[in-house]
Amino acid sequence: MAISYWRRRDRYYRLLGNRCTQCNSEYYPPAYLCRRCGSESLVDVEMPTTGQILTYTILREVMSGFEGQQPIVIGIVQLDNGVKVLGQIVDTPLDALKIGCRVRLVFRKIRDESNVGQIYYGYKFTALC
Ligand SMILES: [Zn+2]
Repeated sequence: MAISYWRRRDRYYRLLGNRCTQCNSEYYPPAYLCRRCGSESLVDVEMPTTGQILTYTILREVMSGFEGQQPIVIGIVQLDNGVKVLGQIVDTPLDALKIGCRVRLVFRKIRDESNVGQIYYGYKFTALC
């Protein structure tokens, strides 16, 4: 996993999706083929850094390696260009979370692998509610 992480690391530090040059549909994660018009002509485009929570769930039991982060809030966020993204929502009191809250994209540590010292970073969202 470490090698593929490093090969793709430029995509983890910004939300890099793509846009169809024929119909302007945008995708994240990037698509190989436009699902709207079928075009294969897509160009990289950075996604907006703000959006709103469409729905979310609170994980009180978490996978191995994420114990220090529980409870984990996972949400579906609709970015301001309409693209829907699954992501962790952080830095927000649980009782303040609401569907419809505005969110802002942030980059945070995802996890670390203590045996090799590798630290993985990626996108999360912080709610502005
Ligand atoms: Zn298209």
